[in-house]
Amino acid sequence: MAERISESLEKKLSSRLGFYEDLGMRLFYRARGAVAAPHGEPQVETSATAHFSTIELQKEVTLPKSAGRPASQKTAPVAMQPVIPKIAALPVVAGPSLFEAVDKIVGDTLLKVREDLGECTRCKLHSTRHTIVFGDGNPKAELVFVGEGPGADEDAQGLPFVGRAGKLLTQMIEAMGLRREDVYICNVVKCRPPENRQPEEDEVKTCSPFLFRQIDVIAPKVIVCLGAVAAKTLLQTNRGISQFRGEWLEFRGRKLLATYHPAYLLRNPPAKSEVWKDLQKVMAVLGLEVKKGKSS
Ligand code: URA
Repeated sequence: MAERISESLEKKLSSRLGFYEDLGMRLFYRARGAVAAPHGEPQVETSATAHFSTIELQKEVTLPKSAGRPASQKTAPVAMQPVIPKIAALPVVAGPSLFEAVDKIVGDTLLKVREDLGECTRCKLHSTRHTIVFGDGNPKAELVFVGEGPGADEDAQGLPFVGRAGKLLTQMIEAMGLRREDVYICNVVKCRPPENRQPEEDEVKTCSPFLFRQIDVIAPKVIVCLGAVAAKTLLQTNRGISQFRGEWLEFRGRKLLATYHPAYLLRNPPAKSEVWKDLQKVMAVLGLEVKKGKSS
């Protein structure tokens, strides 16, 4: 006999289902209409029970072979070979320059980067911040997300992407078949710009070397830039993000893809399906199963 679920859980499941629908993922769970009950009688399927089907199906997803695991625990390669897309002829500066290569610090660790950052007062953002938001997640992640800078919630908690945009980012990560703790999340600037304004050029210039060191230490397979500030910083370009969003580019020899910032998606939900297409490209490179039947 079907158990009843609590109202709050039903609400949560329903909102998650709505999120998948926004992404254009409709075909991988059962229709949200009547389904046959065990006795053959029609039974109304609530959004919540429909989402349980989604969860069941998600369990079938081939989880990342190594995303989120130390190299020593990596499993043997499986039969499915991801299609590795070609990296586009770059419209922006790409590849390690001599200086970038020299910049790499031998024996660097996230702890050292954090220690060097210290109680930073290098730029004016220090005078209004409450907490430095360094970054969070798996230090050996295959996937790193780079945002712009902390907002009010992040400044209060000291963790990246924990506000509304962060909740959406978490949903995006989970839709990829990953958990938040499998990936690493950080920002271009580590202190909140007042009133959530964009970080200014001098602030980005001062803070970005710490981001570059974080990326060098983590050595991810893929970097996803969330929004124009992250993309422009890592690609050293002034081009608008729409000119290269969803294309494979490079940062110091690593694959980089820029997509829209979750805060933009909150204001402009139809763009979620574009972002989902971008994330599916990332999933293919990471060997995560891109389910057939999901509309793109
Ligand atoms: N927006 C960002 O770019 N970073 C955060 O950490 C939160 C919101």
